[in-house]
Amino acid sequence: MKRAYNFNAGPAALPLEVLKKAQEEWLDFNGTGMNVMELSHRSKDYEAVHNKAIALLRKLLSISDDYEILFLQGGASTQFSMIPMNLLNKDKVGHYVLTGSWSEKALKEAKKVGQTAVLASGKENNYQTIPTLDKIELQDDAAYLHITSNNTIFGTQWKTFPEVSGAPLIADMSSDILCKPIDVNKFGLIYAGAQKNLGPSGVTVVIIRKDLIGQAPEAIPTMLDYKTHSGNNSLYNTPPTLAIYLLSLVLEHVDSLGGLSVMEKMNEEKANVLYDVIDGSNGFYKGHATPDSRSTMNVTFTLQSDEATAAFLAQAKELGFIGLAGHRSVGGCRASIYNAVPLEHVQKLAEFMKSFQSSY
Ligand SMILES: *Cc1c(COP(=O)(O)O)cnc(C)c1O
Repeated sequence: MKRAYNFNAGPAALPLEVLKKAQEEWLDFNGTGMNVMELSHRSKDYEAVHNKAIALLRKLLSISDDYEILFLQGGASTQFSMIPMNLLNKDKVGHYVLTGSWSEKALKEAKKVGQTAVLASGKENNYQTIPTLDKIELQDDAAYLHITSNNTIFGTQWKTFPEVSGAPLIADMSSDILCKPIDVNKFGLIYAGAQKNLGPSGVTVVIIRKDLIGQAPEAIPTMLDYKTHSGNNSLYNTPPTLAIYLLSLVLEHVDSLGGLSVMEKMNEEKANVLYDVIDGSNGFYKGHATPDSRSTMNVTFTLQSDEATAAFLAQAKELGFIGLAGHRSVGGCRASIYNAVPLEHVQKLAEFMKSFQSSY
């Protein structure tokens, strides 16, 4: 068996150790004679998996008791609506920083619910740079400030988060949660679809400060109210049990490697391997992001012409590199190098980039 050089943007590579552990337990989880998928979500065996995932997230991200951790469905995209439906009441304004397609989508959903404002936008330079925002004092009418910590499509990432006063800071961390240590206390709410850095698709993690729960208007559908899920340990209805099980294995794996500061070092090393090739290519490869905003998770670049890009992608495919075409909205190339992508695979890609340049 040969593992693919998987640079998919999401769903994406999972740690081999996790897949093996799941395989070992596939037919008989913990002596139950059942797969985790076959367990009742009300059983002790499943509940232990569920609570272990919560406890490990709490440990890895040092999340205090002021926050609840929720496992929801509907992807990060459902959070685009759920956040304003819960937190944007009618005299308030939801503030957004636009740093790419996902923040635009989040804003679009908020506009359907209430008043919004764009505090800063990188659209003018095609989202090559994260706007510089250190201190933000929001007015009394602000409901929250929403940012996207890593821009999966454009390949940019916030290096430091702004100090926000006056309203909670909310972040979509779908594509970089667990890539490095962060101070959760800076945020009112953090959310992430699992399929980039946390596990398989199907579960969305929401980390929410307790005072933000229970603010929704009464007319909100039960399933879209954070209170429903927080009051029931995310077991109000059937959760995505298999996805949460795999999430628990990924979290165990990250913990066994030494936690998030170790992940940060590994991720920086991997990203530097590719950015060094781009920077040393005499313009053959051109990075999309400006150096100060470069993502350690999604490395985006173009070649000098569409023909060169097409030739690069075709040859890469032949050699077994998967997922290198840029998102359909921006074109070019993108290598997604999330936590689970091994350094060795990144080095193989770097070698290929260099040899393609010299032969093209
Ligand atoms: C992938 C992604 C999303 C969309 O996630 P879904 O789970 O497919 O809804 C949202 N935001 C960011 C930053 C993403 O990378």
